[in-house]
Amino acid sequence: MNFKNISQRSWWEREVMSHPRDLIIVGSGITGLSTALYYKKQNPEKSVMVLDRGFWPTGATGRNAGFACFGSAGELLDDLKHEDEAGVKDRLRLRLEGLELLKSELGENEIGFEMTGGYEIFDSKEDPHFLESAENLPRFSKWVEDITGVANSYEVRDINGFVSIFNGLEGYIHSGKMLRRLTQKVMDAGVEIRWNSPVENVEANRVVLSDGLELLAGAVMTAVNGYSSHLLGETLVKPARGYVMVSNPLKKMPWKGTCHYNMGYVYFRDLGDRLLIGGARDVDKAGEESTENEINPKIKQWLIDFVNDKLGIDPDWRIEQEWTGVMGFGATKTPEMKRLSNGVYTAAGLGGMGVAIGMKVGERMAGMIGQE
Ligand SMILES: Cc1cc2nc3c(=O)[nH]c(=O)nc-3n(C[C@H](O)[C@H](O)[C@H](O)COP(=O)(O)OP(=O)(O)OC[C@H]3O[C@@H](n4cnc5c(N)ncnc54)[C@H](O)[C@@H]3O)c2cc1C
Repeated sequence: MNFKNISQRSWWEREVMSHPRDLIIVGSGITGLSTALYYKKQNPEKSVMVLDRGFWPTGATGRNAGFACFGSAGELLDDLKHEDEAGVKDRLRLRLEGLELLKSELGENEIGFEMTGGYEIFDSKEDPHFLESAENLPRFSKWVEDITGVANSYEVRDINGFVSIFNGLEGYIHSGKMLRRLTQKVMDAGVEIRWNSPVENVEANRVVLSDGLELLAGAVMTAVNGYSSHLLGETLVKPARGYVMVSNPLKKMPWKGTCHYNMGYVYFRDLGDRLLIGGARDVDKAGEESTENEINPKIKQWLIDFVNDKLGIDPDWRIEQEWTGVMGFGATKTPEMKRLSNGVYTAAGLGGMGVAIGMKVGERMAGMIGQE
């Protein structure tokens, strides 16, 4: 069958299947699905289709660490070295409001949300990064209070022999449950989702699948994050691979909550009686600029040594599951949300904080599409 030739479609296919949609979104991660949800809510009469190359979403949304976090003190301090205060505060607001939206829209139980609190650990009380972060806690707590109304969210605490900055407002989710719930909501809202549909080319009003099938649309948006350059040919966002491993069930699991180390490059949490740990991308940043889901042995070994040297778990622990996922990083830590020169809308570059900001990004994109 020649998919490319629309004149060879049946009357019935043209009427019901291949008619132009008002909006086609490529990518069914948190960004694409949230955009679809809010666009459909705002425009119930419009037809919306989401396409994804995988049998299920195969990007970072289903392969992350499940941290519902909004910025450790050390990370905020580091951001202030590269950006002005207004930019850092804006992103903090985006993250905090995004997390609220995620919980209220999808339901805390349904996404496995637990408000555990989180720790940013440091090697010693003399660590200059700790000292500077600790000095700034009243300032950062005030920023959080201005947005949430909750005072004193950051405080210095000792944990398992480490000095840490505790953040009472952090927690974690079950990313699989979150994705399942969001997908169901989007379908209930009347959005069509097609999996196993790799897209090869996008234009303002047309999408071409890898098998040649052409679909027409009033507007097209890409939400493929780390895979953006494959599809758009633009270097708006660079891919950045992330690694995660999960241990066997442990006799002793002394860590509870979301934990960060080295300005957020390393992150770990409990998964019941198991340890989940990931990150350390800074060990080989250039090597991780890849969309291939392969494990970097240098990073894996660095994390194994970190667990053995620092975390105080059973010495005979072992890795039971490990995986990688692909993030996207833009020129700044704030995602790209715009209409490109070819008329295609895009949202990409959610970095390592898509759980927090993904729904808010989707809400903003839904308001932007068709308004220009
Ligand atoms: C290892 C790891 C750990 C992380 N941990 C956290 C965390 O704890 N907390 C946090 O907030 N964030 C975390 N993140 C980041 C977060 O997961 C991402 O920012 C977020 O999921 C991005 O969502 P997205 O919808 O924009 O992109 P994605 O989820 O990557 O979705 C893109 C979709 O596009 C599809 N696609 C790609 N190309 C095509 C094509 N040509 N045709 C059709 N479909 C296509 C893919 O299959 C995919 O489903 C982590 C990321 C990784 C990789």
